[in-house]
Parts: sequence; C-alpha cells; structure tokens
Amino acid sequence: MDSKHEVAVLRIGHRPGRDDRITTHVGLVARAFGADRVIFSDKANSSTSTINEVSLNFGGPFRAETTPSIPKFVKSWEGLIVHLTMYGQPINPLVDEIITSYNSQPILVIVGAEKVPFFIYELADWNISVTNQPHSEIAALAIFLDRLFQGEEFNKSWDGAKQKIIPQKLGKLIK
Ligand code: SAM
Repeated sequence: MDSKHEVAVLRIGHRPGRDDRITTHVGLVARAFGADRVIFSDKANSSTSTINEVSLNFGGPFRAETTPSIPKFVKSWEGLIVHLTMYGQPINPLVDEIITSYNSQPILVIVGAEKVPFFIYELADWNISVTNQPHSEIAALAIFLDRLFQGEEFNKSWDGAKQKIIPQKLGKLIK
C-alpha cells in the first residue's frame, strides 16, 4: 500500500440490466480492497453513480468512471496489465513478480463477464487465475487485490467520510 502508483480496475463485458449488480459489486470490491479507481463501460451508468455515492458517504479517495471504448482504453493504458481469468497462470508463483513490477508502474486489473475478447489476453502482461475453476469476477478481484497489497488494504484510512462504521462486538454503530 506504500506504492505511489495507481491501481485501476477495468470491468469489461457489462450487459445492462443483467450485470448491473455484479458490476456494482466489482466497483465496491475495487474500492474497499484498496484500488484507486474503477472504470466501467458507459452502459453502466447506474453502477458508476452508486459507487461514487458510496465514496461520498464512506470516504475516498476513490472514483468510478466510464469509458466509451474499452478497446481504446486498454490500448492507451500506460502501465502494467493483469487480466484475471480462470484460463490464466496460477497467482501464487507470480504474485511476487507482479508486486515487484507494480513498485515502479501503475497497474490495470481487468475482469470480464461472459466471453473476454482475445486482444485482452494478448495485451495483458499477465493472464492470472485464482484457481483454474470457474467462479466470479468479484471473488477473483478481491483475492487478487488482497495478494497485491498483502493485507495492508485493511489498514487504509478514508478521507472525507460522512459516515464511519465503528466496529462493535454486537450491534451497529455509525458515526
Ligand atoms: N470464461 C471466463 C474466464 O475467462 O475466466 C469465466 C467467466 S466468469 C463468469 C467472469 C469473470 O470472472 C472472468 O472474465 C474473470 O475475470 C473472472 N473469473 C472467473 N473465474 C476466475 C478464476 N478462476 N480466476 C480468475 N478470474 C476468474
């Protein structure tokens, strides 16, 4: 978490209506687990507003943005690219190499929905699997960010929060 470099998460393949909740949860996990911003397709406006509202209420800095063109966004990214896919190389042997590279460059983490276009596999510096079993972009992203930040994301402080949850043994306390 000491790195000065950006961690951005790109959610591709969003299907309006059907994927709204999952896309929003990708954004929630990106924010809660230490990324700096999430980029959605411009068809995901409701997820974008929800995430930015969460940041207003519970703190930042974190922002959700949209792009009109995922291919252009990926092709113009200046930094490392990690694509999370069940077909990729297992995370454990590669995580140290990714952390070392991330110390000198920003990183874009790409998660998909249905079928991911092949140019994403080709443009990625690493195609990484979190097990080689099919599961979820939300789970894969959470595990990947936790490994990248080595658990330090849990100590992140949040600026400008209107609401702060005070942990309780029993019950709910929000200040
Ligand atoms: N065929 C997809 C794939 O390439 O992983 C599975 C589709 S899954 C419904 C949607 C997204 O979840 C994928 O694009 C990928 O980002 C993520 N995902 C699912 N299982 C994964 C795994 N085992 N490792 C890494 N990412 C995974």
